[in-house]
Amino acid sequence: MSSQPDTRHEIAGERTARDAYWMPFTANRQFKDNPRLLVGAEGMHYTTADGRSILDGQAGLWCVNAGHGREPIIEAVQRQIAEMDFAPSFNMGHPLPFEFANRLVALSPGDLDHVFFTNSGSESVDTALKIALAYHRVRGEGHRMRLIGREKGYHGVNFGGTSVGGLVNNRKYFGLLLGGVDHLSHTLDIGRNAFTCGLPEHGAELADELERLVALHGDTIAAVIVEPVAGSAGVILPPKGYLQRLREICDAHGILLIFDEVITGFGRLGAPFAAQYFDVLPDIMTTAKGLTNGSIPMGAVFVRRHVYDAFMQGAEANIELFHGYTYSGHPVAAAAGLATLDVYAEEGLLTRGAELADYWAEKLHALRDLPYVRDIRNLGLIGGIDLEPRPGEAGRRGYELHCACFEKGALVRYTGDIVAMSPPLIVTREQIDELVDILAQGLRELR
Ligand code: PMP
Repeated sequence: MSSQPDTRHEIAGERTARDAYWMPFTANRQFKDNPRLLVGAEGMHYTTADGRSILDGQAGLWCVNAGHGREPIIEAVQRQIAEMDFAPSFNMGHPLPFEFANRLVALSPGDLDHVFFTNSGSESVDTALKIALAYHRVRGEGHRMRLIGREKGYHGVNFGGTSVGGLVNNRKYFGLLLGGVDHLSHTLDIGRNAFTCGLPEHGAELADELERLVALHGDTIAAVIVEPVAGSAGVILPPKGYLQRLREICDAHGILLIFDEVITGFGRLGAPFAAQYFDVLPDIMTTAKGLTNGSIPMGAVFVRRHVYDAFMQGAEANIELFHGYTYSGHPVAAAAGLATLDVYAEEGLLTRGAELADYWAEKLHALRDLPYVRDIRNLGLIGGIDLEPRPGEAGRRGYELHCACFEKGALVRYTGDIVAMSPPLIVTREQIDELVDILAQGLRELR
């Protein structure tokens, strides 16, 4: 037995207990002076290291859609890890990812009926971009090499996703990134669309920028990638008709349309996928997060039949796509995913957001007259509160509202001066009231 002290739940102990871990996307120095540590989770709540119960207003990180600590998922993971912890993924298989892929395509729209497994949203995005480029190549159109993203887009942190992403801070430290990438304008227009309940009325014409890029680049564009609803940039909604217009332009010019559904997938908008909610079918769809209810890392890229068929009928006699991960289709992750789909189905969670969406919208919009609120955005069970930045201290109000809510017992995400909410899909109306009440108290205290 080790005589090492158990530091797992320590919050204020020796500095060395916290120093080795370089936290991702975190102000490390600020955090280590004031650590907020979570040590337990059940249902709609986290427990902090100092024993407080915190209402989870962000489904972990947009992923724990069925709420925390779900028994069927725990049992499936325990069973699978005991039965077979790992199986090689290349030229060798095991039954679970086959079964999981079949179950997934039964949920997906149209003919998005082939699935490539990854381990995260970032990997799903880079996989999707590589599939798009290779698709054109195997069809003899290797000149289609350009990728189009969008300003304020977030597509994970790998090199492809960083390149098509449009958040300046995520790009500026990392050199030249991929060549041949252009960005459409983002669709956030507070001037014209502030406090729209649901989809903005104005801005569908922004999709026509893609026509301009086609005029400039001819037939060299391989794919366009967008989040149907942009989450990480602070809940940016597509104007009515915008996604339909993008689809039309892609169709007219032989460009693949990729929806990054890492956040919107698995019920967030009240339909299994945003593609169904908007009735727009992408050629490729990236997912992760809710795929396993956040329990075990996993991502999945869905492709339409014509994309898959291009590879299966392609000239490569042997391996059709030189791409994959050691942990693609990992048995434990696949077991977690299958159990997750059971929970979603049994509790009707993939459409529950549709039942709650009006209530959610009404409650959130009741905050509109509170201090510094300059916009409120909502769709399905996503919400965003956009705050007037404090002069000379952009981002502080968002952070302070996040901290105030945490003190008062709710976890909400902040990005700059926008606070984003995405509760687990099991949330009750009373818990929505509680969350909005805490937000209101936090807003009243802002300076
Ligand atoms: N795409 C989108 C739209 C996302 O929101 C995220 C994560 N927030 C990612 C990709 C990256 O996922 P991961 O952090 O699992 O790599």
